[in-house]
Formats: sequence, structure tokens, C-alpha cells
Amino acid sequence: MNRRQVMMLPGAALAPIRGRGQTPAPAPPNAAIDTLPPDQVMLKDYRPKSVYKIHVSEIVKARFPVIDCHHHAQSRTPEQVDQEIKIMDAAGLEASVAFMGVGEGPTYRAGAFDDGYKIYSRYPKRFYVYTGLNMSGAGQPGWRPDATIAELERSHKAGAVGVGELHDKGMGIGGTMPGGPGGRQGQGGAPRAPVQGFHPDAPQLDAIWEKCADLGMPVNLHVSDPYWSYLKQDRFNDGLMNGFSWRLDDKPGIMQHNELIVSYEAAAKKHPRTVFIASHLLNLDYDLTRLAGIFERNPNFYADISARFHETCTIPRTTADFLKKWGHRVVYGTDIPFSQHLFSLTYRILESADEHFYDQDFYFNFNYHWPMYGLALPDDVLRKVYHESALSAFKLARSKAKG
Ligand SMILES: [Zn+2]
Repeated sequence: MNRRQVMMLPGAALAPIRGRGQTPAPAPPNAAIDTLPPDQVMLKDYRPKSVYKIHVSEIVKARFPVIDCHHHAQSRTPEQVDQEIKIMDAAGLEASVAFMGVGEGPTYRAGAFDDGYKIYSRYPKRFYVYTGLNMSGAGQPGWRPDATIAELERSHKAGAVGVGELHDKGMGIGGTMPGGPGGRQGQGGAPRAPVQGFHPDAPQLDAIWEKCADLGMPVNLHVSDPYWSYLKQDRFNDGLMNGFSWRLDDKPGIMQHNELIVSYEAAAKKHPRTVFIASHLLNLDYDLTRLAGIFERNPNFYADISARFHETCTIPRTTADFLKKWGHRVVYGTDIPFSQHLFSLTYRILESADEHFYDQDFYFNFNYHWPMYGLALPDDVLRKVYHESALSAFKLARSKAKG
């Protein structure tokens, strides 16, 4: 998540749970904007409504059982977990990972894994509980991973089956962005001085990735952010409304998009026994040919499609062709709190052949200006993306475990 850690803030964390199972309320109408003359409407406020008289699919349950490989645990009580299970049952979600929000570097919270594990492990077949990495002190000279590895082994013994979500948005794993841990001004509390962590292929992380392999734990690692966040924020930027909200072009000293991806692949190559699941299609939604090349060269490399439905459904034929070829390495994921609306929207994109529909304010307020299209994926591809690829990633990770 990272740039969306606003969802994890105290107070904000529980808010979505109350609304689960219902369509989120639309933003309150802003009369002033709604009545502006057309030549004064700003692009960021543009909310077209499709006029086409065409089929609208409403899919409550996925066509095949689903495993969600990118879910941030939001529940803090057993009752809230019960409520998550109800939504999962209604939407056909067989199981989900549960990222515990343990954090990295200065945001690491000792005990966060254990607290979450207590309530989520009541449903051992429904949740794969993940832990984070204790990267405390990563910015100090001479840092060594001994404490990180000891804590990883401890959480594994206590029930953790995977590691994530980890992040490198340019300041390395265990680092923090200028302006706060998530990179947004003021996000996550008072601004703090940036901390330089380690990029995925840094030698300081070698022993950690090897330990993940030894323990049979897949690593869910998010690097970079959408491409248009790095581009000049002007009228030529194809993803301007999204790119501007999460802009990175004004963050001096961070590692750039291409270099982050190169570093990630180098780590996967250096640690062939470690299974990496790249969050958000490795932020290569705009260049799926490059992602295909990375899959081709690295059998231990998977990617989740979470929070990249809007970006890929606007190129439906290219995305469907990509998934027909590489669906066995792409896993389903969501990234925002469970709701029926969330699942129905993602199923509509993956399963239906619907055309020209909008849902601009739902998914992280992404606000892309383009309409969405269903990918109409065939059954064999849906089965892989929904279910089989996740099982194969877990199985591959377990097959590399020692002892
Ligand atoms: Zn996430």
C-alpha cells in the first residue's frame, strides 16, 4: 500500500469496516462545481456519465474461487474478522493474504504481527498471515541484518507464512521518503528527515532474501509507483489526475522508476530460490512487454494485479493477450478494504465484455479520465489469475524451504 497508508491511520482504519458490503457512498455533491458553466469545469472535477445503452454486468461472485494476494489486514477485533469473512463468502473469496501492517524501518511495530495473528488465525484456511521486516536502524552506517533475521524467524515460528508488503518507492527498503514514510507531504504524522534504506539488490539484504527462501516464505514487494507520477506534471501527462496526486517528480534524491525495476530484477536473479511477488504488476502496467521479459528470465518472479485494474482495463486487448500468455504468473489482489463493490468492480473488469464504464472515485480516488472496459478473459485464464497462480507461488516457495 504505502502511498495509501492513509487507510491505516488510527480512526481511518476502522471507518471502512462499517461500510463493508455496501456500495461506498458517492462523494457529497458539490453544488458549486456541479453548476459551473462548462468552460470553467476543471479536468480534476470532470465526472462523465456513460450515455451508451449497452449491457451492464453486475457480478456478485467470481466465476471461480478467488485468492486475494494483496490485502491489508484492517480488523482489530474478532468480530471485524467475522465481518470480513461474510464479505469474502458473498464474493466467492476462498482465501486472502493478510498483511499485518508491521512496517519497515522507523515504522516497524513490534508485536503488530502477533496481535493480528491472534484474531486472523481463527480462520486458518481463509487467511495467510504475513509479517513485515524489522529494518530498524537501516539508515545507520554499518547496519547488519541480524536482528531482522531473528525477528523473521520468530514470526515464522509464530505462524507467519509470507513477508510483505514491503516497499521501495525510491529510498530503499527500511528507508523513508522525503515528507514522511509514504512519500506524501504530512502523511503518517509529522514530516521527518528522509532515511536511506536498501534497494532490492543491495548486498545488505542478501541474507534476508535467502532466509525467506529457507523458510519457504514468498516476499510481496512493491517497488516504484505509476509511471506518470515521475513524468512532468503538465497537460501532456496521460495519467495527470492520478500522477499529480501521487507525484514523485518533485522528490529529489529518490531512485527513479527504471532503476528500481532493474534493482528488483537483479535481486530476483541473485536469489533464485526466493519467490518474489511484485505488487501492482511491478508498475509496468504501461509496458507489459517489459514485464513479460522479466517473467521469462526469472521463474521465481510473480506479480499481483491489485490497484492496477483501471490502468490495464483501458488497454483491454493488450492486457487480455498478456494474461493469456502470462496468467500463470499473475495473481489476483485488491489492496483496499474489502467491500462487495470492490470485488464486483474487479470481477466486472476481468470477466465481462462491458464497455465504456466509469468508477472514478472508488479505487483510491485514482481519477483517471478514461472509461473502463472488461477484459472478457477466458475461463482457463480466470482460473489462473484468481486461484492457481497464487497456489503455484506458495508451492514454489515451500519447495525451496530447508528443514
Ligand atoms: Zn498494498
